[in-house]
Amino acid sequence: MENSSAFQQLPTPDVTVFHDKLKGDAHDVFQRWRKQNPGGFFLNQTTESKFRFHLSKCYHLDPSFEEFDGVVSVTSKPKICSADKQALKEWASKREAEVVDCDCCQKEQ
Ligand SMILES: [Zn+2]
Repeated sequence: MENSSAFQQLPTPDVTVFHDKLKGDAHDVFQRWRKQNPGGFFLNQTTESKFRFHLSKCYHLDPSFEEFDGVVSVTSKPKICSADKQALKEWASKREAEVVDCDCCQKEQ
């Protein structure tokens, strides 16, 4: 699939940003994207220049997760989504952003 370095020269696949400031229904669209892309990846912006790398299916972003008790929208902080892990890493490195892997969803790999 995407694990051969020979493919790194191909054009970067689409990276989609879901953020409340960009789109009012970003939360719904983001959660739909997760369902439709169970094998996808996303970056969750934690601070101005820091992002956490998650698998699409990471339970951290499920609406039922305790952290979101009473939280209406998980996209109040930007979520940068792609089906391609490398595309996200490149997106972040272009912005000189620091990326930290999420502990829980990386363990499942
Ligand atoms: Zn995670």
